[in-house]
Amino acid sequence: MPGDSAPLLTIENLHATAQGAPILKGVNLEVRPGEVHALMGPNGAGKSTLAGVLMGSPAYEVTSGSVRLDGEDITSWSPDARAKAGVFLAFQYPEAISGVSVVQFLRQAMAARRGMEDLSVLEVRFEMAEWMERLGMDQSFAERHLNEGFSGGEKKRNEILQMALLRPRLAVLDETDSGLDIDALRVVANGVRTVREEHPSLGCLVITHYQKLMDELQPSHVHLLVDGTVVDSGDMALAHEVEASGYDKWRAPA
Ligand code: ADP
Ligand code: MG
Repeated sequence: MPGDSAPLLTIENLHATAQGAPILKGVNLEVRPGEVHALMGPNGAGKSTLAGVLMGSPAYEVTSGSVRLDGEDITSWSPDARAKAGVFLAFQYPEAISGVSVVQFLRQAMAARRGMEDLSVLEVRFEMAEWMERLGMDQSFAERHLNEGFSGGEKKRNEILQMALLRPRLAVLDETDSGLDIDALRVVANGVRTVREEHPSLGCLVITHYQKLMDELQPSHVHLLVDGTVVDSGDMALAHEVEASGYDKWRAPA
């Protein structure tokens, strides 16, 4: 049951810098198996920095505090080791690879997650076809080439498909793209719902400033990140309060 189990993700007093500048200033957050948490916050609050730190991005330096997965300190783990341990982060694929199809890309990602040298193309195609059907995707999507004219919605489909196939324990989705349309938001919300039906213990941290995504997702927990710290946590009522009045109440007086 969500709420009773040991934490899946524990972020404790996390401080991190980007190019020497302090961005995260003591983040505390806990996600238990099966829970969906939303992290909201104004532009520049440090949301994407937190996602980057969770994936082990070399762009950020953790100066104090810790990130634990199942109680194990992963603060200094490489992105690969985290992925293998079941941490999934959207936007993991390199932006610029061309000539790689969705199916080729997913085959590599699945082999890495499962610690295998190789996976048969047949097996990958079979699992993909099943999930594409479940997620309402056109089967021709598998043959598309990564990032070649992908719309916002298609990028999201690729990410959600990746999440479904990798069977992560913790998924971190960062909605950094500006101008995500309602179609793309629905892809994310339906995708998370569908994958959770199959893997009820999946923990999700969805980073967003889109109220519409929150409405579609109905997270059990909502956190506000302002100026590098979590300034408030609650449920959907908190998201509605932000929608109605903005972040001013939580900003430090100038
Ligand atoms: P959010 O996702 O909440 O909009 P970000 O985490 O992207 O916020 O950015 C928070 C602050 O950190 C911003 O002032 C941004 O300029 C800075 N920042 C983020 N990433 C880097 C980086 N790689 N190098 C330098 N500064 C960065
Ligand atoms: Mg961002």
